[in-house]
Amino acid sequence: MNGYQHLYIPGPTNVPEPVRRAMNVPMQDMRAPDFGDFVTGILTDMKKAFRIENGRVFIFPSSGTGAWESAIQNTLNPGDKVLMSRFGQFSLLWVDMAERLGLKVELCDVEWGKGVPLEDYAKHLEADINHEIKAVFATQNETATGVTSDIAGVRKVLDAASHPALLFVDGVSSIASIEFEMEKWGVDLAVAGSQKGFMLPGGLGFLGVSDKALEANKAIGNAGMARCYFSFEDMIKLNDTGYFPYTPATQLLHGLRCSLDMMLEAGMESIWTRHTRLAQGVRAAIEAWDGCQLVAMGPEWESDTVSAIYAPEGVDARDVISTAYWKYQTSLGSGLNKLAGKAFRIGHLGSLNPVMLLGAISAAEMALVDAGAKIEPGSGVAAAQAHYRATTPDGQAAQSKAA
Ligand SMILES: *Cc1c(COP(=O)(O)O)cnc(C)c1O
Repeated sequence: MNGYQHLYIPGPTNVPEPVRRAMNVPMQDMRAPDFGDFVTGILTDMKKAFRIENGRVFIFPSSGTGAWESAIQNTLNPGDKVLMSRFGQFSLLWVDMAERLGLKVELCDVEWGKGVPLEDYAKHLEADINHEIKAVFATQNETATGVTSDIAGVRKVLDAASHPALLFVDGVSSIASIEFEMEKWGVDLAVAGSQKGFMLPGGLGFLGVSDKALEANKAIGNAGMARCYFSFEDMIKLNDTGYFPYTPATQLLHGLRCSLDMMLEAGMESIWTRHTRLAQGVRAAIEAWDGCQLVAMGPEWESDTVSAIYAPEGVDARDVISTAYWKYQTSLGSGLNKLAGKAFRIGHLGSLNPVMLLGAISAAEMALVDAGAKIEPGSGVAAAQAHYRATTPDGQAAQSKAA
């Protein structure tokens, strides 16, 4: 193979070189007297990435799915009623987990291509006068369909109904990439993972927890769901001095230290704007491709971290993906579940710049033409170039921070 294998899936994302180098360190003693300070610094800065002053962030040696599990097990009781919605592979898996852990799910099924149904949520919450619904779940960014939902809107709906339910948010493909304000939006449990916006390998599950959720955990005490590995209580006891109840993934923590430094230096807001700018270029390309269409059904749902794209009529999206991979050394995201064969995805989150995405668009364009799509070669690239030329900030400061 010559040159790079290009990675444009929505996670794992590209790991910046400084982060890769930061992980190349000797093994170390995770009970050493100076290890606690190292970890405490990371935990403090994680709160900045989640945008909280209060509460805490847990770091589990797991993928994001582990943090989902921890959030549920530590704050809810078996048999509790929860309000959820399903509109793609990840929101579907979350519902499946909730049911397998014994929750009673009040489910809003939504057409794939749309997101959290605020009006339906409002109806369910207003009808729940006895407050039997203990938690409301929202997938901020449905990675399978490239759909972003309005989390501030979910908070408004809860407040309008004066409903005390906990607010759970899956932010695995949105936190540290697009706008996310855990405290301002009153999110109680926010799930993320290392391999998406945080620009690290897979292997760490992140969970932001509000004071209200910590209270719920205390109120449950020794009752509630069986929990051990993902127990808040065990974690809190050792995290308070910067240690863990079991062996932490020390290499990944060094990588996380480096990626947090990069993110906080750039500023979270500048990361959010960069993702919007990059995504708009990809969407300009898709619009230029005859017969291609976003799975997201309208601008209010469009995701700035991943685009799911319907291949034109008669073109198998699986051919597009395999041609891009074998012929052009480029990984595009596959169509998941009922989108298999119909759609492919371009991940545009993490450590990326316009020229990298022009490569992704170019590879997708060539693979589409090879797979039989009647699109004008170069049309998508040209549209994205025009957008990036017009919007990419100039100058050295911008280059080091946001470009
Ligand atoms: C990737 C992803 C997950 C699953 O995370 P893992 O780290 O693979 O366990 C869950 N939700 C969303 C929205 C995701 O994008």
